Amino acid sequence: MNPDERLHRMERLLAVARGLSAAPEQETFLQLLISAASELTSSEAASVLEQDGSNQLRFVAAPWFHREMLQAVKVPLEGSAAGWVYQQKQPLILQDAQADARHNKDADRAANFTTRSLLAVPILYRGQPIGVLEVVNKRGDQPYNDEDVSILETLASLAGAAIANAALQRRVQATYDEMANLERMKNDFIAITSHELRTPLGLILGHATFLRELADEKHREQLDTIIRNATRLKEIVENLSNVDNVQSGAARLRRRTFSMTQVLTEVATSYLAEAREKGLDLRLSVEDDELRLEGDAEKISIALGNLIKNAIHYTDPGGHVVLVAERIPNHIKVSVIDDGIGIPDKDLPHIFDRFYQVESHLTRRHGGMGLGLSTAKAMIEMHGGKIWVESAEGKGSIFTFTLPLETPSERGRSKVFTV
Ligand code: ADP
Repeated sequence: MNPDERLHRMERLLAVARGLSAAPEQETFLQLLISAASELTSSEAASVLEQDGSNQLRFVAAPWFHREMLQAVKVPLEGSAAGWVYQQKQPLILQDAQADARHNKDADRAANFTTRSLLAVPILYRGQPIGVLEVVNKRGDQPYNDEDVSILETLASLAGAAIANAALQRRVQATYDEMANLERMKNDFIAITSHELRTPLGLILGHATFLRELADEKHREQLDTIIRNATRLKEIVENLSNVDNVQSGAARLRRRTFSMTQVLTEVATSYLAEAREKGLDLRLSVEDDELRLEGDAEKISIALGNLIKNAIHYTDPGGHVVLVAERIPNHIKVSVIDDGIGIPDKDLPHIFDRFYQVESHLTRRHGGMGLGLSTAKAMIEMHGGKIWVESAEGKGSIFTFTLPLETPSERGRSKVFTV
């Protein structure tokens, strides 16, 4: 072979190798590969066969004029040249294919073609055979030589990478689909459960409250227990449906101008009794009493309430919870600071995920479902705000959120939010 020819071969092989990363899909790449294989070995046709999970090989790339006919052909591993190459993991040259018993004639018949000579090499991935690359009928009825074998082996290693990539991609896609399906099932479950629980819970609370009015001193305590626990259940159901609404895009912002100072005071006051009962010092420090904001006060109250509730939950008696609110450029910044148990570093990146809890739900001492922070995050982000945490285990946590002072009135109205 003269130097020009050699250079041309090198360039052609290089172009195929480049195609491996550039070609958008397996089929396009394999077509490119077989046309290079026929050209570089001066063959009439080339094809790629892949093992299809059974004891057979099927054509995954063939010249356009044979493609349709070969699609249905299955080549058995026993009694075919390709099967022999696949099983032996070795190249095979049949200079007179018709005279060799290993040549399987089904493909010839299907494509209305006569294979005179054949060269086949195994396609390996990590040493295991996954298919076969074949060229047939060397032009001028020349015999296939060592050079043809090494060209085909080079191309086969590229085909191996392409086929393995495509299989990996299919697996990733299947896992992704399965995850999406599980996520859908989980969301349906949340939606149905919270909806179905709400009505009976409302009835229990209503009737228990009514009975408490009529009951004598002796029975009041029992009724208080029923009311307290039913209220707790109601909170859980509300948290569930908040998450569900935000997820399904059903949550809408009801914007109006409101006083953030007032919201802070009201929410903090609603937790004063609980904090006192636990022996905690709950304080509010507002820098500027004219903290006015445009947004949905109810949703911001839910977010703030969840942060305060957690701070009380995760701080031991004698500890402190402080709410600090201040104006920063274009934003209001609110921090809920506690000197409680803190959060381990490894958990910090997941703390705002739905259903995430630091302690295992089997061993945990605190109640809750791991929804409070994800709900808070969703509510703050719906307003174009940000929320984050700084924490040191054993020392305490600071949960901070910022809300923009001027938000375009349409923002967040039609957007779908996920938590
Ligand atoms: P939960 O209902 O379990 O409290 P959250 O979403 O509100 O769920 O919080 C998720 C997890 O983050 C909690 O289980 C808790 O371990 C941790 N956490 C939240 N707030 C605090 C805090 N102030 N101090 C320590 N840990 C916290």
